[in-house]
Amino acid sequence: MNKQPALVLVEPGKTEVRAIDIPVPGPDEALLQVNMVGFCGGDLNGFRGLFELQEYPNVLGHEVGATILEIGSQVPDPFKPGMTVTLNPYLNCGICLSCRKGRPNACQDNKTMGVRRPGAMTKFISVPWQKLHASSRLSVRELALVEPLTVGFHAVARGRVMAGEKVAVIGCGIVGMGAVAAAVNRGLK
Ligand SMILES: [Zn+2]
Ligand SMILES: [Zn+2]
Repeated sequence: MNKQPALVLVEPGKTEVRAIDIPVPGPDEALLQVNMVGFCGGDLNGFRGLFELQEYPNVLGHEVGATILEIGSQVPDPFKPGMTVTLNPYLNCGICLSCRKGRPNACQDNKTMGVRRPGAMTKFISVPWQKLHASSRLSVRELALVEPLTVGFHAVARGRVMAGEKVAVIGCGIVGMGAVAAAVNRGLK
């Protein structure tokens, strides 16, 4: 099988570039060429040994801007080779109580890329088509920012922020910036 280099978090405090297999996409999957990957605070906490869900060794990276290279036989429209995409890095089981209540983010068997299954800090990854989001308007750099920004948007949605209110955002990294953008989007000044 062909190999590719990947950034592997071997153990807390130690990363290595290792050769891993280039994946072969299944019928429901797309093979992606990774163009851009963000470094998340979660990756950093995994490196520091402070993230209890982190499994070692693991390829890091879950904030992705990519191009579709190949699609499996069951992948429906509109996904086609050449499209630029980002992805939802959270795989959920679909059967636990949280999943059945429509809260896949709280799945008891959540398998996040780079945490409990291989991530995207490599050249080629294979992803179920259901997790892809295509955009012809966003650049691959912007596509890699979508996932962290959604975390801030989710926080503002959970906080039921409304126009006319005031919010304090403590910490303006990319997630905090997402919270600011989401609040402005809801009419806050
Ligand atoms: Zn992240
Ligand atoms: Zn579940």
